[in-house]
Amino acid sequence: MSKSDPLHIVNCHIHTFTTDHTPWFFPHPLIFALRRLPFLIDLLTWAVRSEWLERMKAFHRTGSRDSQRAVLREILHYYPRSTRFVVLPMDMALIGHGPVSKDITEQHDELAALAGDADYGAQVIPFGTIYPDRDGGVEEFKRVVEEHGFRGLKLYTKLGYAPDHPVLMNEIYPFCVKHNLPVMAHCSRGGVYHKGWGSIRQDRVTAPIAWEPVLKAFPELRVCLAHFGGAEDWLAHLRDGFDPDRPAARDDNWVHQISQMITSGDYPNLWTDISYTIFTYQDTIPLLKLFLQDPDMRRRVLFGSDFYMTRQEALSEKAMSIRLRETLGEDAFRQIAETNPQVWLGETPEGS
Ligand SMILES: [Zn+2]
Repeated sequence: MSKSDPLHIVNCHIHTFTTDHTPWFFPHPLIFALRRLPFLIDLLTWAVRSEWLERMKAFHRTGSRDSQRAVLREILHYYPRSTRFVVLPMDMALIGHGPVSKDITEQHDELAALAGDADYGAQVIPFGTIYPDRDGGVEEFKRVVEEHGFRGLKLYTKLGYAPDHPVLMNEIYPFCVKHNLPVMAHCSRGGVYHKGWGSIRQDRVTAPIAWEPVLKAFPELRVCLAHFGGAEDWLAHLRDGFDPDRPAARDDNWVHQISQMITSGDYPNLWTDISYTIFTYQDTIPLLKLFLQDPDMRRRVLFGSDFYMTRQEALSEKAMSIRLRETLGEDAFRQIAETNPQVWLGETPEGS
């Protein structure tokens, strides 16, 4: 492909689920009042007038759209019409924060309809998800792949399971390998988690190294650890550096872990995406640029944004992706936003 070819961006990490798909009482029972009485947020932003609250309001506004289609329409403002988006659902009904108004089957079906939408469907790459302890979860995931042509699997382990949960190891990963489906897994210290799980327990199932048994058992499975370890670890890497007398501190850093695992050559189908993390801290882009100078890293980093989680930040998706493209340069940007996603999705073989 020549340089002058138009760029076909794939944003490998967005969400379109709405308030109806999130537990009533997450993250706090008070949230239930806000959901029932949305004007309370207006009252609060009027009374407090903080920039942060304004951004929370924008985040809430997107999440409270009445359909996934309406959420998708918002992100379409920020990208060329040729852009495609990997849409990642979440099953949060069993994580201990109360019921959800629309269950995972409804969420999947609405996403399937969106992928078939006459106006926007061509831009949607739908993924399915599973909560391994859910009765019928395996069948539900297989259903969306076999009947609706879903293109991959989304996992979010800190909702309450380990990456090597027996249901995943015995049923789901073999199914993904057979159907050539990639896996996207949440990998940062932030985000949603199972009620009552402290940070140690969350980290135990989320750390890059927790994926080792999976990557060893299924070396052909293409697994993307999202967020490149997360903003907290990027900032520790960049701002604090590492104590020379505590080598363990470097090993515990998830950015370091991911880059070590990828460049070790031991995990040929391990990937990472830069969603949220890079998108919200422009200070981190130069370090990303440095990582991309390593040929192994350059082949394994995916462009993604984590819309609409990024609604909590001041810069728009458009401003951020243009800044990223400008700093990385056209070649590196094309590599992570077009070439790599096509390989990860199984659309083109590596090195073609
Ligand atoms: Zn996400």
